[in-house]
Amino acid sequence: MTGPQQAGGRGDLTGKVAIVTGGSRGIGQAIILELASAGASVVIGGVSDSSSTQALAKGIQGRGEGILAVKTDVTSVEEVSRLVGTAIERYGHIDILVNNAGITRDNLLVRMKDEEWDAVLNTNLRGAFLCTRAVLGHMMKQRRGRIINVASVVGLGGNAGQSNYAAAKAGLIGLTKSTAREVASRGVTVNAVAPGFIDTDMTRKLSEQVKERVIQQIPQKRFGSPKDVAQAVAFLASSEASYITGHVLSVDGGMLMA
Ligand code: NDP
Repeated sequence: MTGPQQAGGRGDLTGKVAIVTGGSRGIGQAIILELASAGASVVIGGVSDSSSTQALAKGIQGRGEGILAVKTDVTSVEEVSRLVGTAIERYGHIDILVNNAGITRDNLLVRMKDEEWDAVLNTNLRGAFLCTRAVLGHMMKQRRGRIINVASVVGLGGNAGQSNYAAAKAGLIGLTKSTAREVASRGVTVNAVAPGFIDTDMTRKLSEQVKERVIQQIPQKRFGSPKDVAQAVAFLASSEASYITGHVLSVDGGMLMA
């Protein structure tokens, strides 16, 4: 993690309040650390009220203005509404939303079960829609806001065995661009990052053989780190990115050059 940013300096998020979904581990955890070290207060919306989320909240307490963990399943309208309500009650405003929560249920399309399709679409796409809808009114009223969706290279290029995940991530990119158009005149930007293969629990499940095959397709010849993604998210959340909206920023070591 980088050291605390200087107040008022480049990338400074002092006084800003961020909601990050799926923050118990992996990319979400790195995003929380990055935003908090830039001075933001962070509200973590994690599905399990796990000890790791609580420990994370305690561990970074004091870096930003405050860290709060609210048990939230992003597929539940009620829990999302409680997450946003808690953030407003505690801090009075929300400036940044990072839709990071995501799952995989890989299978070839011909064998894909309804539950595998529904679970991935519900979490990765509907969850982002619910969280975005819940914060958008506040952001439009205050004429300021940043929404960053964690998509994937798979949403841009597809991947055999991941039709559900690719459909959800491609949908998330469509959601990003459409919402960006709807709220651009209200001072709210909506962007996405499209990570390639990042070293987290999600990719640790892959066999060594698959990992080797993937690395051959990455010009930089390595998986990215959660921090690589977190730094891109922090940039899009900063005032330096105020004229960027509806954009999909690849963080993939050159894997998918458009
Ligand atoms: P992990 O599997 O390490 O973490 C996923 C996170 O999402 C966990 O914190 C998990 O919570 C949370 N989560 C899952 N379901 C829900 C839900 N219903 N409500 C709230 N939170 C939920 O994944 P990564 O860190 O690798 O992935 C983070 C994001 O980045 C995902 O959207 C993923 O699709 C995307 N991504 C990842 C890539 C990679 O290579 N790793 C590449 C491209 C995109 P809990 O711990 O409680 O289960």
